[in-house]
Amino acid sequence: MKDLIKIDHLRTHFFSDKNVIKAVNDVSLRVREGETVCVVGESGCGKSVTAMSIMGLIEEPGGKVVGGSIEFDGRDLLKLSKNELRTIRGNDISMIFQEPMSSLNPVLKIGQQIMEPLMVHQKLSKKEARARAIELIEQVGISRAEQIADSYPHELSGGMLQRIMIAIAISCGPKLLIADEPTTALDVTIQAQILDMLREFKKKSNMSMMLITHDLGVVAEMADYVVVMYAGKVVEEGEVVKLFESPKHPYTQGLLKSKPIINQRQDELYSIPGQVPNPLDLTESCYFHDRCAHCMDICRTKQPALKEVADQQKAACWLYEEAVVHV
Ligand code: SF4
Ligand code: MG
Repeated sequence: MKDLIKIDHLRTHFFSDKNVIKAVNDVSLRVREGETVCVVGESGCGKSVTAMSIMGLIEEPGGKVVGGSIEFDGRDLLKLSKNELRTIRGNDISMIFQEPMSSLNPVLKIGQQIMEPLMVHQKLSKKEARARAIELIEQVGISRAEQIADSYPHELSGGMLQRIMIAIAISCGPKLLIADEPTTALDVTIQAQILDMLREFKKKSNMSMMLITHDLGVVAEMADYVVVMYAGKVVEEGEVVKLFESPKHPYTQGLLKSKPIINQRQDELYSIPGQVPNPLDLTESCYFHDRCAHCMDICRTKQPALKEVADQQKAACWLYEEAVVHV
């Protein structure tokens, strides 16, 4: 499978008067054609900032991509003009967010909001766009499509709005869909329906998907490949079954331990002790060292690199470095 998107050594930082927050600090990842890659980690680990960097949505002067490359279908997105990027964003890459209300215009009818990208990017006439919008509303599993097209966002439930966002996102047949916590705000039943729907679309269209989530249940259901982020870095990645069966990085092990197991009574859910490091206080250490039960001297002074630790599995942890004397 060919790489559709290939991010290398991405660094996206945010600047204030005196401080620099290294939200994404040397992240490399790829999504191949037809593949679903889940990016997991606690909030604030840089998942969303990675997605916003791909979409060209990091606003200067507050934030800036300060290093690395983002190659999409052979072109470096970071070198494109705003117009070129807008075209790619309309046609080839689309994104859905956790809060559909924040992306929809409250004073425009649903139908108009679905029609707009179709007229701009696919050059459909108003009439064609309207017909396509109705089709799309039906495709995302909403009945009475005509009536819904003539409604305003506030008249619909959260689950319906997220379906509408998906309709807009898939309307131009994107090669890549980036979904940032798309079901986090929804109740479990609706969440399952939306995930099913995304999986269906993916299957039918061979679309690739980058799914950002903190929910390992979602990962287990959706991912082909998993990238685990911690404090702006990738700490582990691998094929989904391998990563679940045999997580290598102590952080991934902790995340998996804290996942509720369906149909199994657990008296108390494990939670990883401690907190993510203050982004202003990052030193040349393993960022997880304060919370790690296996911490060694070297972990406090030197950062481990991401390396192959098993077939189709990489981790950044000194435990897998043969030259390190394990104590
Ligand atoms: Fe733990 Fe050290 Fe591995 Fe970091 S490098 S996860 S502190 S063992
Ligand atoms: Mg986020």
